[in-house]
Amino acid sequence: METTTQQSNNATIDTERQKKAREYARKRRRLSFINMGIAALALLFIFWSELNIVLRNLLQPLNWQPVPGWYPWQVLVYLLILTLGYQVITFPLDYYGGFVLPHRYGLSTMTLRSWLADLLKGLVLSLILEILAIELIYLLLATQPQTWWLWVALIMLFFTVVMANLAPVLILPIFYKFTPLPEGELTQRLLALADRTHTRVRGVFTMHLSSKTTAANAALMGLGNTRRIVLGDTMLDRYTPDEIEVVLAHELGHHVHHDLWKLILTQSVLTLGSLYLLNLALHWAVEIQHYFLSLTDVAAMPYLFLLTAIFGLIVLPLSNGLSRAIEYQADEYALQTTKMVAAFKSAMIRLANQNLADIEPSPLIEFLFHDHPAIGKRLKHADEFADRHALNASISAESLAPVSSTEPPGIPSSGSSTPDAAH
Ligand SMILES: [Zn+2]
Repeated sequence: METTTQQSNNATIDTERQKKAREYARKRRRLSFINMGIAALALLFIFWSELNIVLRNLLQPLNWQPVPGWYPWQVLVYLLILTLGYQVITFPLDYYGGFVLPHRYGLSTMTLRSWLADLLKGLVLSLILEILAIELIYLLLATQPQTWWLWVALIMLFFTVVMANLAPVLILPIFYKFTPLPEGELTQRLLALADRTHTRVRGVFTMHLSSKTTAANAALMGLGNTRRIVLGDTMLDRYTPDEIEVVLAHELGHHVHHDLWKLILTQSVLTLGSLYLLNLALHWAVEIQHYFLSLTDVAAMPYLFLLTAIFGLIVLPLSNGLSRAIEYQADEYALQTTKMVAAFKSAMIRLANQNLADIEPSPLIEFLFHDHPAIGKRLKHADEFADRHALNASISAESLAPVSSTEPPGIPSSGSSTPDAAH
């Protein structure tokens, strides 16, 4: 039996690609640790040098106060200096991790120009959202000093729901082109699948990922009237119709299980908890330690950022664990509704090969950083399903078309504008 890459890509895990996948994951991980280290050092330096106090004193003249205790201009300029300063310091790492590395591993198809354009668009977008959030927090700190955290959590929940609804029509098109899936066999199959499972799908769209990446991806996006299944064009041209149907069934599973709502609500509870702790820490720093002048002192901003980042790191394994459980259930749903175990497995193998996904990360790494079960586990799941239902799980060679592939790198893709792959 010949074991060229071309051949092995079809039905078996490509061991060469796996070696690269592990290397790539290791480099990405190291990079995100360095990034975190830099952020921590920068914040510690700010506290040690009292730069936060110096900066606040410099901004004293911006004292327009529409509501007693709320200085929107001070907050705005302080936030801009912090965020832009951080962007400048971490730009070399962004460039290496976001452009150089993916190119070196053949995962990116972007020109430097388009990469920079996306970076800028992402920065502007996140700045706008950050400014709104931080101004809101300072306004509530001034008016509701005891219950501000509760209000912030409630408003953020509302905003998250609105954003989840608007994202597929307003936000993602800024970065990617979407077109409705052309009429044809696939659409027919999907409609039949939706019919069989008594679910209503509002639409299936092709996301033109190939202009940016070689990796394949699919996802359920939107809420309410914008809810849709999205397939990367990097998947459409390389996967067999059976494989795509299984992927669609997986996405349909997310819809049937109301997974977006589950994620939003869990995230909201975690946010509420973090904000409450933030409230305690802020009152302690102001009223007991007198580190800051008042609750609305802008000099406390780096302190709030540091704590938020620490809480985020603490809850990350929790939300990843929930996400993996949800993904497992969506896989189960896909297997149940299609009974196509072989197609499921070959789709996973294609993803691993194409997206440079490590199929067996160390358990600790998976526990901490992966929001999808490792592909090795998903393959095992399919075998167990086949055993349970006495189905044939072997992949026949003739059912397979050409491919190359990967699963989403499980590392939290901070700052990446790519929606989660094979979701
Ligand atoms: Zn999924």
